[in-house]
Amino acid sequence: MLDVLIVGGGPVGLFLGCLLSARGLSVQILERRAEAGAHSRAIGIHPPALEAFEVLGIASPLLAAGVPITSGLVRGERGAVLGELDFSSVSARFPFILSLPQQRTEQILEAELERLAPGTLRRQAEVKTVQEEGSHVTVRYEQHGQPHTAQARYVVGADGCRSLTRQLAGIPYPGATYADKYLMGDFPDTTVFGQAAVIGLHAGGVLESFPLPGGLRRWVARTDSLLTDAVAADLTALVHSRGGYYLPHRECSMLSAFEVRHHLTAQMVRGRLILIGDAAHEVSPIGGQGMNLGWLDAAALADLLGGGAGQSALADFGRRRRRSALIATRQAEANMFFGRPARGAAQQRRERLVGTLLRSGAQPLLAKAFTMRWL
Ligand SMILES: Cc1cc2nc3c(=O)[nH]c(=O)nc-3n(C[C@H](O)[C@H](O)[C@H](O)COP(=O)(O)OP(=O)(O)OC[C@H]3O[C@@H](n4cnc5c(N)ncnc54)[C@H](O)[C@@H]3O)c2cc1C
Repeated sequence: MLDVLIVGGGPVGLFLGCLLSARGLSVQILERRAEAGAHSRAIGIHPPALEAFEVLGIASPLLAAGVPITSGLVRGERGAVLGELDFSSVSARFPFILSLPQQRTEQILEAELERLAPGTLRRQAEVKTVQEEGSHVTVRYEQHGQPHTAQARYVVGADGCRSLTRQLAGIPYPGATYADKYLMGDFPDTTVFGQAAVIGLHAGGVLESFPLPGGLRRWVARTDSLLTDAVAADLTALVHSRGGYYLPHRECSMLSAFEVRHHLTAQMVRGRLILIGDAAHEVSPIGGQGMNLGWLDAAALADLLGGGAGQSALADFGRRRRRSALIATRQAEANMFFGRPARGAAQQRRERLVGTLLRSGAQPLLAKAFTMRWL
């Protein structure tokens, strides 16, 4: 009988595995993939997550691999600087957002888990059924074509937005797809922006760029439709027409068109079954909070499971974390709103409003909101 079985070894399941193992609980993570996901999705690791990693002693390898983003420069249609989000006051230890591609983050978390509790992660292990049976939960899974059974006091579904755990429990996951679409790609960094992120509020739609490790920069442009057939030259043309920057399209190392959704589960805790991460909430990545939100779920849950909390504490955990997910959802919606196309007078009004906000006493509060200080 395990203390906790975690379905899904993505970034959230891996971090929960580290937290619970460090508290001395017996934990197993079942992950169907053979290795960390190849898609570069999240790049932003926020100060609250770095603080939680540091407590466990696993922040150093992430800090060594990533690049700190120390500020966000906001520019208008003609390149004029409207203001700056300065992250220097958001955290005494980590006054920045760490930029690191998700695949690398997952690899480092997996190595740290293996160091803390060897054998906790089982790969190529696909969960098929999850059944609560009074004092425990029984999970059936297949590994290398062989059927297996495991039992645990609690099962945590950290199995992403299509969570089988959630579906088997019949827990609704209401939400929708936004109209906003984006095209993103990674290129050698040919700009002078260094460790600053740049958010360009252009008449045709937002153009954002972020430093990446290895001398690269990620570019994200809002598009009117989902450009699934786009090639690198389509993105470099957009970047040039909006921001005036030339990118070497032949040196594009990643290109992806994506659409954005929001979902929030009706319940994060049902009996001995708990949902965290994208299994519980999907937030638009514009603002870069989804993975971090899941890590904060994991940190809050580990305190409860490690301390033998009862059902009412778990129910309270579910309510608090759903509220945080709702705030993150609204914040991402505000980011998307400001990045929509706006022409003529509407564009001028937007630039005036954003410029005024960033030069006012609200700037430190905005920097806190962007770095998830209250989630
Ligand atoms: C373009 C893009 C950019 C983003 N940028 C950011 C960002 O900058 N910052 C940020 O915080 N977030 C960002 N996000 C969101 C982030 O990628 C997700 O929130 C994060 O991956 C969620 O992690 P998770 O572990 O909950 O789920 P997932 O990453 O989906 O992992 C779930 C795991 O469960 C496994 N699994 C599923 N079903 C089973 C089963 N039956 N048995 C065994 N294993 C199973 C899967 O194989 C997978 O490994 C971005 C997302 C996108 C699309």
